[in-house]
Amino acid sequence: MMPLSTQGEPSPPAPFVPLRGNNLALDLVNTEHLHRRKSRDLLQDVAQLQAWWNVVCVERPEGELARELAGSVQWNEPLWEQVREFRWALRDLFTAVATGTPLPSPALIQLNNVLANGYPVLQWRPEQGVISTYQTRDEAQGGILLPIALAAARLLQEGEHTRVRACPNCIGLFYDTSKSGTRKWCSERCMGRARSREYYQATKRAHLAEARGT
Ligand SMILES: [Zn+2]
Repeated sequence: MMPLSTQGEPSPPAPFVPLRGNNLALDLVNTEHLHRRKSRDLLQDVAQLQAWWNVVCVERPEGELARELAGSVQWNEPLWEQVREFRWALRDLFTAVATGTPLPSPALIQLNNVLANGYPVLQWRPEQGVISTYQTRDEAQGGILLPIALAAARLLQEGEHTRVRACPNCIGLFYDTSKSGTRKWCSERCMGRARSREYYQATKRAHLAEARGT
């Protein structure tokens, strides 16, 4: 894992971070979810944001750009607040996509503002030759916000909108990449929980019916 701490301090231990949105923008939205019917936020401070980003850099296809831009990122409260605000905008946007409703303008403006700070550049690398990548004019925060915004833009433009779904168990959003395109839950864990709840309700109904002699 690439250490991202700018002060040379060891990175904080990575928390349990579910990256199950199949898209970086949805992964950010999913850092806030329902756990045992209570809202849980995995980004409660700057250290947790940094730990989450370290996981993103390693496990996500966007990790290469994330690593490239991370050098100038200022890991501070304003960045943390900006990421959380962006998370709200992305939840609004992709909830609209999942429910087939028009995209809310304020959230789209917020996404466009982040994208406006990014610009494509060509670079030469010894092993790859000329490659196309991105830079950002917002050095302090863009290194985090731009890779997320590009992932959101890609999903909005190239993704099949009917495959963007909200998990009925945890309010998580995910992009269904299954062959059948019929995935209902974000994870097997959520599927198991929802099914055991359905089983419990069905058993309860059967017992009540039996007690009533119907
Ligand atoms: Zn879920």
